[in-house]
Amino acid sequence: MSGTTRIWSPVDYSKDGKQVDCLRLPISTDTSAYGWIPIPIIVLKNGDGPTAVLIAGTHGDEYEGQVALMRLSRQLQLHDLRGRVIMLPSLNFPAVRAGRRVSPIDEGNLNRVYPGHAHGTATEMIAHYVTEVLLPMADLVVDLHSGGRSLDYVPCALVRGGKTLSENRKLHDLLDVFGVPFAEFTDGTGGGGNTTLPAAAAQLGVPVITAELGGAATLRRAGSDLAEQGVLRLLKHLGMLPSCEVPAPGPVRLMNGDNMDLFLYADSDGIFEPMVDIGDEVDEGQLAGLLHSIEAPHSPPTEIVFVRRGMVAFKRHLALTVRGDCLCGLLEDVEPSPDIRR
Ligand SMILES: [Zn+2]
Repeated sequence: MSGTTRIWSPVDYSKDGKQVDCLRLPISTDTSAYGWIPIPIIVLKNGDGPTAVLIAGTHGDEYEGQVALMRLSRQLQLHDLRGRVIMLPSLNFPAVRAGRRVSPIDEGNLNRVYPGHAHGTATEMIAHYVTEVLLPMADLVVDLHSGGRSLDYVPCALVRGGKTLSENRKLHDLLDVFGVPFAEFTDGTGGGGNTTLPAAAAQLGVPVITAELGGAATLRRAGSDLAEQGVLRLLKHLGMLPSCEVPAPGPVRLMNGDNMDLFLYADSDGIFEPMVDIGDEVDEGQLAGLLHSIEAPHSPPTEIVFVRRGMVAFKRHLALTVRGDCLCGLLEDVEPSPDIRR
């Protein structure tokens, strides 16, 4: 165990074999003075080779990735593997157990506190462990998300652009191999900006594929299947599962979402009635939804209108809305820029 992290584990990352254990996140409460919270971890290592870190449960109410990693942790066989796979199906375990986006311990959003703090809150300690211990070992990180309780998403993959031409080409290849139908290079606009796992990984030059696989705090089998097959293809692509039989990826449509005009927000409180569905192609000026005021039921609802054309990548799933809530987001088509075109 390196450095300053307070999280510990019997897992030895340098050891060959399959290890099923947990990270121990220290906690000190009225009822458990010297306690720890278990964060499940599965490590498979078979000789030399690349290291893939597979994460789900960064947000607790996003289920497709959690179940995909549970399946993979049972399915992957040591003798098929070259290198090391580290799986954390429920990284922010307190949030997963509570079925919440944020941790009930500190209200921390794990994808908003990177690079974390060794001596911070529970959520900050988890982020710090990833930054300090896991990222330096990783050749690839896959972080599986969905829209959570408040949003519903089309299956899409997001990467942060690399520092060099060759990094961006490699990321583009990884998106094609992962095979989730829509993909985006993003700097975190509208989301977590520089407080996310991909932002921390970018500092170390470690590629991260983030996937949005569904949402509405439910489990869509199509999303978990995409995640499972996409991860297997990536491991095969890296030479880690040379004999793996996995279906070829479908086409990947490269899109852009880094423009605040693509995001629609509520400018007043109300009940949101969406007029579009995820995956719909929409035009500038088209009605996205209505916002009905509960204080003024007799007044006409506020019309929410798209200001650009694009495809509906996500929409708000919860009806009850307050001013400032994000209602809808678009992705727009983009030609691959010269720096990522192969
Ligand atoms: Zn998420």
